[in-house]
Amino acid sequence: MTLIAVAMTVDAAEEVPSALAAAAREVEAGAALVEWRVDLLAETAEPLPALRRLVAESPAPCIVTIRAAAEGGGYRGGDDVRVSILEALAAEHPSPRYVDVELAAMERSANLRAKVRLAVTHPRQPRDLTTGLILSSHDMETRPPNLSARVAAMVAEPACAVVKVAWKARSLRDNLEAFELLMGRAKPMVALCMGEWGVPSRVLARKFGALFTFARPQGEPGTAPGQPTVEELRRRWRWDRLGPATRLFGVVGWPVGHSQSPRLHNAGFDAAGLDALYLPLPVEGSWESFKATVGALVDFAPLDLGGLSVTAPHKEHLVRWVREQGGAVDPVSAACGSANTLLVERGTAGAGAVGLRTVNTDAPAAAAALAEALRGAGGARGAAGAGSAEGAGNPGNAERATRRTDGPLHGRRVAIVGAGGAARAVAAGCAEAGAAVVVFNRTPERAEALSAQLHGRGAPERPWHVVAGRPGELGCGCFHALVNCTTVGMEGGPAPQELPWEADVPLQDLVVMDTVYRPRETPLVRFAASRGARVVDGQAMFLRQAELQFREFAGRAAPPGLFERVLSDPEGFP
Ligand code: NAP
Repeated sequence: MTLIAVAMTVDAAEEVPSALAAAAREVEAGAALVEWRVDLLAETAEPLPALRRLVAESPAPCIVTIRAAAEGGGYRGGDDVRVSILEALAAEHPSPRYVDVELAAMERSANLRAKVRLAVTHPRQPRDLTTGLILSSHDMETRPPNLSARVAAMVAEPACAVVKVAWKARSLRDNLEAFELLMGRAKPMVALCMGEWGVPSRVLARKFGALFTFARPQGEPGTAPGQPTVEELRRRWRWDRLGPATRLFGVVGWPVGHSQSPRLHNAGFDAAGLDALYLPLPVEGSWESFKATVGALVDFAPLDLGGLSVTAPHKEHLVRWVREQGGAVDPVSAACGSANTLLVERGTAGAGAVGLRTVNTDAPAAAAALAEALRGAGGARGAAGAGSAEGAGNPGNAERATRRTDGPLHGRRVAIVGAGGAARAVAAGCAEAGAAVVVFNRTPERAEALSAQLHGRGAPERPWHVVAGRPGELGCGCFHALVNCTTVGMEGGPAPQELPWEADVPLQDLVVMDTVYRPRETPLVRFAASRGARVVDGQAMFLRQAELQFREFAGRAAPPGLFERVLSDPEGFP
């Protein structure tokens, strides 16, 4: 079973008591090994008493590491000195469970190699309590060109009990190589990728049978980039329930660090009792990065990728890629030219074959959120009053909203402001539900292009009504609903404090929907409520698209209201 090793840095003898106390808290939290990283302590005049105490009082079996500066550590002394320290510790009772020495150090000198071998097979050690040697190799810059040769050399070293390789990931694909190394291991092994792209290798170490993964102590930066805390591993990434059969899902985008989707879908998998994990999967913005990375993730069968949420800037890339792969693009995604969901079906079309399918859950989610408000408004230009759409947690409603031709959107006139990706999905969703859609945009040519696109390739047989609006028409008083699909009002966007249209556009008794969901209460949401509109905030659409997506991923609905609770309770649902 893969263990969590918490990496504790101790630079000076005075830090030993607090380090022991901190390590005890980490062990209490779930760490099963403590790595004492004593690079600077080892350089002090008399490090042994402090080191002996760390080993003797360690709250869990420990690794002692004196990492050289060349491999990302802080130790600048001689190899002989640090190996002598490790040798002295290995001869003690109790001794460290492991000491870590770099392969490069062993290869620098035959004398050192002999000394290391002696250290871990010390005659004074009881046979069953010997200290194991972790032979390690790190590249803080990139994947080393001779990675395979390094692993082979470590395996071939008779004194090596554990092979450890770590390198800075250049993309998500490096994780796959770490998993391949773990699957082919000839000795107990740790294979980790560092940095933002390396998180899957740290979390899925358990799925692929690593001996351990490293965690950083709570509140500390950690000893390598990308280390999660013990708590993050266990609560956020469901460490305790991961295993060889765990299915992977995730969100692909750039950036994805802010995405709430992992919190939602992992809570859904917990509730459904499914052996599945959902991770943020950062993929740089280019088509080439998307194609290469998603292709590699899908093709790496042991990963068992079940599906992906796809967000900006890759929604168009997804449709293009699935078409190129001969997969199935659903009609709404085909018409929009973009999709937010990839489903990977394995073994359906023959041995080892993979079926790829897109789904666009943004479009029906927007339509359903709007339909709910129109229904609640009691008809065209109906009841006044603010409030977000109710029943957002019911994906069944979302489905019905897009399939029925007599639903609340049928025959309604919807004005959409904006002509980007969100506008396309909202326009398609509303048109599919039978609404007449008029698109207004700062750059009018893009509104024309949007209308043309939705009537072009992939448009459904039943014609959609989507046209570009003329200047001044937004305030004509002929719309039942106005939808903001611009980035105006978005936190971090171009105009976070502004309204997406002129303040004199009448809103009384209209449904006003904002697709912007960060913040939930945008300037438009506040303003429209104050003007007597029935308001739908961006979270209503966001929750619905996630619920529809979850149903595709899990084959069942998330419990009603769960996703809403997750969004409002970051502590309860990490
Ligand atoms: P996008 O493709 O970049 O399009 C941005 C749109 O905003 C364009 O039409 C652009 O007009 C317009 N715009 C930008 N700055 C403006 C300004 N200062 N004044 C007027 N118009 C301006 O963005 P997107 O992907 O469609 O996303 C739009 C919003 O929808 C974002 O806030 C996103 O978070 C949200 N969204 C929400 C959900 C959900 O589930 N709730 C789902 C998807 C997206 P030009 O064409 O003239 O540049």
